[in-house]
Amino acid sequence: MLKFTTGRGLRLLLAAGICLGTLASVGAVSRTDGTASPMEAVVQQAEQKSPIQTEAELKAAEARQKRAPALLASRGLNREQKDALTARMGEDAFLFQLLEQGSLTRADLLWLTLPNSRSDRLERYRAWSAEHPKLTAEDVVLQVNMDQDQDFYSLIWEVADPSALDVLVNKHYILPAGYVPQLEVLGGKYGAGSLRPEAAQAFRAMADSARKDGISLRSVSAYRSYRQQTNTYNRYLKQNSQATVDTFSARPGHSEHQTGLALDINVASSRAHFEDTPAFAWLKEHCAEYGFILRYDLGQDSITGYRFEPWHYRYVGQEAAKTIMEQGITYEEYLALRPTWGQQVIIKEETPAASPLSISGSLK
Ligand SMILES: [Zn+2]
Repeated sequence: MLKFTTGRGLRLLLAAGICLGTLASVGAVSRTDGTASPMEAVVQQAEQKSPIQTEAELKAAEARQKRAPALLASRGLNREQKDALTARMGEDAFLFQLLEQGSLTRADLLWLTLPNSRSDRLERYRAWSAEHPKLTAEDVVLQVNMDQDQDFYSLIWEVADPSALDVLVNKHYILPAGYVPQLEVLGGKYGAGSLRPEAAQAFRAMADSARKDGISLRSVSAYRSYRQQTNTYNRYLKQNSQATVDTFSARPGHSEHQTGLALDINVASSRAHFEDTPAFAWLKEHCAEYGFILRYDLGQDSITGYRFEPWHYRYVGQEAAKTIMEQGITYEEYLALRPTWGQQVIIKEETPAASPLSISGSLK
C-alpha cells in the first residue's frame, strides 16, 4: 500500500522516531517476532531522553521556530495555520528539515496544521487524498488515522497498554497475546461473567438505576479469554464464510470482550431485535451517565467493522462516554480526533501481506 522509495521510507522512519521523542509517554514498544528493528532503536533512545532536553537542543528548537515563519510565507496559509506549523517545526527537527528542503506540499502543510495529524502518516494522507480528491483535510487525516485506507485485518497494531481504560481493540488493533485483565465477578442478579472492577461497579450501578425505572439489565456475556474467543470464532466459521463471520464476530485478540471492559446486555442476537425494547431505549439515554457507550451503532459498520449490535456496551468512563453518545460518533472517531492520538499506540504486528517498508507508516 505504501510506496516509498527506500530513502524516503528511511527518512520518514527517522522523522517518526524524532516525533516519538516529543511524546511524554510512549508505552511499551515491542515487536511480535522479538527482534529489534532500527526504528525500535530510535524509539528506545527517545524513551531514554526527551529530544528537547539539553540547552543546545532547546536553542536549536528556538532557532527552528524563528526560521519557520519565513519558510512558511507565501504558502497561502493564514496566521493561525502558520502559528500551528511554527510550533510543530520547533518540536520536530526532521519536519523542519523537510520544510527547509521544500519537500512539504501545501496539502502536507494543511494536514500538519491539524492537531490530530501525524507526521509519520504524510505518505498515507497523500495517497488517500489522491484516491479521494473531494475529501476535506480534516477527513483525510481522520480517516487515515482510523486506518480506513487499509482493509480490515490487513494492517494490525498491537496495543501498547492493554490495561489502559481507553484501550482500542478492533480490526486494526490487537491485544497482546496472553493479556488477562484483573476481573471481578458481576454476580447474582447482574447476570453472567466478569468485568474489570471499574466496569463491573459501573454496570451494577447502571442496572440498579434501571431497575428503579422498571428496566431489567443483565449481562449475558462479559469478559472472554483468548481461548473462548478462538472457540466462538471457530464455531461460527463452521457455519459461515469468514467474510460473513467477520461482520459479527471478532478474530481472537481483536475482541473487546477480551479487555474486560465490554459486555452484552440481555440478548446477543440480531433476531431478538433488542433495539425495539424499552431496555434499549433506556440504555441509549442513560448508558453514558455510567461511563458506557453503545459500541456498534446502526450504520457505523464501515468504521467499526461490525453490524449493529444494540446489546454490546463498552466502558470508557463518563467523560468520554458523554462526548461519544452526545455526538453520535464511533469510539474510533473519538480517539482519532484527539490531539494526543496515537501516543499510546505501539508498533504493527508483522502480517504476511505487509511490505517491509510499510513499517515506517506505523510509528508515532
Ligand atoms: Zn459483545
